[in-house]
Amino acid sequence: MTQGQYKLVIVGSGFAGLGLAYKLKKAGIDDFIILEKADGVGGTWRHNTYPGAECDIASSLYSYSFAPNPGWDFKWSKQPQILSYIESFAEENNLNCHVKFGQTVKSAKYSKGHWSVNTEEGETYECQFFVSAIGQLHHPSIPNFKGKESFEGPNFHSAQWDHSVDLQGKNVGVIGVGASAAQLIPEVAKIAKHLTVYQRSPNWIINKHDRPYSRFEKWLAKKLPFMAKLYRGGLWCQGEFFIWPVIKGAKIRGALVRGLNALEIKAHVKDPEKRAKLKPNYPVGAKRILLSDTYYKAIGRDNVTLETDGISRIEKDGIQTKTGKIHAHDVIVYATGFYTNPFLKEIDVRGKGGAKLREHWKDGAFAYLGVTTSGFPNMFMLYGPNTNTGHTSIIYKLEAQFEHILKLMAKTAGGTVSVKEAAEAAYNIEAQDKLSKLAWAKIDASWYKDGTRVTNNWHGGSTEFKRRLENPIYEHFSFSHPISDKDAVEQN
Ligand code: NAP
Repeated sequence: MTQGQYKLVIVGSGFAGLGLAYKLKKAGIDDFIILEKADGVGGTWRHNTYPGAECDIASSLYSYSFAPNPGWDFKWSKQPQILSYIESFAEENNLNCHVKFGQTVKSAKYSKGHWSVNTEEGETYECQFFVSAIGQLHHPSIPNFKGKESFEGPNFHSAQWDHSVDLQGKNVGVIGVGASAAQLIPEVAKIAKHLTVYQRSPNWIINKHDRPYSRFEKWLAKKLPFMAKLYRGGLWCQGEFFIWPVIKGAKIRGALVRGLNALEIKAHVKDPEKRAKLKPNYPVGAKRILLSDTYYKAIGRDNVTLETDGISRIEKDGIQTKTGKIHAHDVIVYATGFYTNPFLKEIDVRGKGGAKLREHWKDGAFAYLGVTTSGFPNMFMLYGPNTNTGHTSIIYKLEAQFEHILKLMAKTAGGTVSVKEAAEAAYNIEAQDKLSKLAWAKIDASWYKDGTRVTNNWHGGSTEFKRRLENPIYEHFSFSHPISDKDAVEQN
């Protein structure tokens, strides 16, 4: 059933979709709808409720620059406060009335200067601009371990935490040691009778020295907003001038991270066998550098086993390793990450002439500055291919994407915009060339890569990202405004 005609249809009401909605309203554009499959806003911060869930980018930076929050309780806030921030943002800015909940987009088709967006619930939304704001870390991935179905106890993915399961006094197995696992393992270790952590490859983890903000600090942030801005700038500088150079291969800063990591392991893990297992054997920065004050303390506990022998199969009451050991478990937690490629895999997107996005990206996703791809006019992506970062706030980068989209929309008026194939190809050659020199390219696999290409991350610093996105080179795009009947035929 056709539900109406809009200037924009946005898919997803996380930080990306809501931030763009806010900017649209500020620009006087109210004619848009956000389709959201969940029953509330917040995206990843609604779904990930595992114990210990928090953001490893400091909250003053992991928040909109246009909606500062002087009330953060911690430097790195916990999931409930982040969700409450985004919910309040939506409410205070009257964004909820634009969101249609319980709508799972299954296809989007371009024709004659317009998009038709269809949902699994049987509804169709027509629009001039189709915007994906679905994020990169969206589809939980559970490896297909032999015997997985035979396990008789509760088992779930970290992003689908089953809060009805009490882990107190249980034998728990956690598979995976990535960013999510590093946050939940310390919490589980505190209450489980025994926790077995299945590690395939260790991470570079350093301390973050978190603490609650004092009342005075909160008061300062509220009463002196310029101080809060300065503070935010300082946090941005730490990522830009300390972590980003490490990813680029800076020797001294890389050695500092390795040194801090070694000190942390030594301080908290007394068992030499465990210590040896915790030392990564790949370049620092090749995977996300993790921040935790509690992970190594948890691994050092007597009730925690660090298993590195590899999983052979899952039994009805435990896990068997490749060396034949059997660990009995009451509960198994899969902290095994997300399917990040192909992008937009659950939406059948068809561009000009019915071209399939899946086919267009058969060798891995790419997009001009992460936002547009040729042959798909009037389609924009937020947090699209090659826009992720390993060192700073994705929200900082989303804000540049909002500006980029608004500027292209303004130029397009009632017609269409499409990035030129040659401009996109040249950009991708540049991006891949630069990416090949970074730490991310120095390992065989991670969620940043699809095959040999780094498909998820941006190749430069965030200032360059902001500058390039906020100053579009209009010659790199084809505009038709407003769309004529002749163009409509050609563009179909
Ligand atoms: P992840 O970093 O991809 O970690 C997945 C873990 O599962 C890794 O340890 C991986 O081992 C392991 N694994 C996957 N398949 C396996 C298999 N077949 N057998 C054994 N182990 C397997 O996923 P994540 O922890 O959910 O984090 C993903 C991203 O989400 C992060 O990089 C970050 O950007 C974001 N995140 C952010 C925060 C935050 O605080 N802002 C918190 C959570 C997540 P290998 O490393 O050997 O592949």
